[in-house]
Amino acid sequence: MLLPRLVRDLLRGPQTDPAPPVPEITVSALIERLDAAARARLGRSLAIRHVGSGSCNGCELEINGLSGVVYDLERLGLRFVASPRHADVLLVTGPACRNMTEAMQRAWHCAPEPRWVVAVGDCALDGGVFRDSYAVEGGVGQVLPVDLVIPGCPPSPGLMLEGLLALVEAQRDEDEVPAGMPPRAEPGFRNQG
Ligand code: SF4
Repeated sequence: MLLPRLVRDLLRGPQTDPAPPVPEITVSALIERLDAAARARLGRSLAIRHVGSGSCNGCELEINGLSGVVYDLERLGLRFVASPRHADVLLVTGPACRNMTEAMQRAWHCAPEPRWVVAVGDCALDGGVFRDSYAVEGGVGQVLPVDLVIPGCPPSPGLMLEGLLALVEAQRDEDEVPAGMPPRAEPGFRNQG
């Protein structure tokens, strides 16, 4: 029984919708500009640490796309790192879960300066679909000083690239937010001017 089904599935081909076309030139230009901006600001390529705070994994799937064959962020040296101690950017997904608050704040303190927090997705913006849960503080801005919000459910990898580029090109050099944390961000793309 298994063999006929296997043959049938092989002949039928993929059942998923085809991926939307990605403008290769635009992606390459975005990544090159992001790398150049990071080198101008930091003297090297950008290091990104993903921090998940109870997301549905939809945003993570899109973040994974940044490392895939289409976007291939690492072709120019931009990279995801395993520890916040090596990161310039904390890319935070999901709402600010109460159980994750301490871990997120520890990660922020571990990251060397200048350190930027990018809240990815509608949940990170204001809690999104989890907003009214007893387990959620709200958006990531409730517990961390957010520099940039990239809205969407989930935002595309291209939108994340544009946001990171806007953040680094702004070369913002604000004073650190002390001990008790927040404020910093307004919802939406910041640091574009
Ligand atoms: S913004 Fe959407 S995709 Fe991202 S964690 Fe929230 S529900 Fe999931």
